Amino acid sequence: MAGAATPEQARLLSELLDRRLLIATGVPGVYGRGAEFERVREQLAALVSREVAPEHPEQMRFPPVLARRDLEKVGYLKSFPHLAGAIFAFEGSEQDAAEQYERASRHEDWSEFQTMSDLVLTPAACYPVYPAVAARGRLASGGLTVDAGGAYVFRREPSGDPARLQMFHQREIVRIGEPRAVQAWRDRWRERALELLGGLGLRARLDVASDPFFGRSGRMLAASQREQELKFEVLAEIAGPEPTAVASFNYHQDHFAAAYGIELADGAVAHTACLGFGLERITLALLVTHGFEPQRWPAQVRERLRADGGPERDEQLQADGRAEADAAGAGGEPPQAGGA
Ligand code: ZN
Repeated sequence: MAGAATPEQARLLSELLDRRLLIATGVPGVYGRGAEFERVREQLAALVSREVAPEHPEQMRFPPVLARRDLEKVGYLKSFPHLAGAIFAFEGSEQDAAEQYERASRHEDWSEFQTMSDLVLTPAACYPVYPAVAARGRLASGGLTVDAGGAYVFRREPSGDPARLQMFHQREIVRIGEPRAVQAWRDRWRERALELLGGLGLRARLDVASDPFFGRSGRMLAASQREQELKFEVLAEIAGPEPTAVASFNYHQDHFAAAYGIELADGAVAHTACLGFGLERITLALLVTHGFEPQRWPAQVRERLRADGGPERDEQLQADGRAEADAAGAGGEPPQAGGA
């Protein structure tokens, strides 16, 4: 059942749909995206790439499905059984297929003809990185930073809140190395992420957080996670005064490294941490903060999103300005200040 939306969330969702920033699919928390929404989201992804580039991360990209074995291996079903999505597929005779089709045509239950496959939906963009790194043997000295891109991830939590999607892009950076180096990396990025989002005009703040662990034992896990300050979130306002997490920093200690046997150069177990930006949520926060027409956002914000630094920037801005003026001429809209 879908979580109920507050009146503010419902209003925001209907505005986003009316303006075709989001496209309804009939399922709460699953939306198509209009061109303007997607352009901002892609610009955000590129902004994160530029921010992390000086660390020369290794680039890895994975599809939004994960080997079921890997979900099982890291204990996801103990902590988050309520959020997981497993992929089932048809297995049976021709008669079974015909019966399945009949039932499906009547929108009745056809699950008995489906068998669990070796795939699940990826719950976090960093999950496929750990087995891939472990398979290569010991880490080089200094460890490794991985840019895992902006993979689609799945969380089974249908909601009328447009900021709570069942499938969304998590832009993740992963650091693997010695405990002290990993913690220092996380601490540095906490500040940088706040600056990055603040630079886009968002009122963001940092807070200690915990994961949505399942059940009574989960509450204890969450309390211990908070106590050890293993998770931080950057919070911003989206719909209503209740702040929403738009980025998170997770220090896993040796959880993933021990499961897969990721070893440092000297053979000790590595530690890992990841930084994830919720691209759709940041896009929503920008739309709510600066208005529903990105071409009218403050010049400084648009400039940051387009590119930053370097001599090519001004040329690019001029080119964009011309393109906007052309588009405005064709569309009969007053030209903007061209980001200058
Ligand atoms: Zn992660």
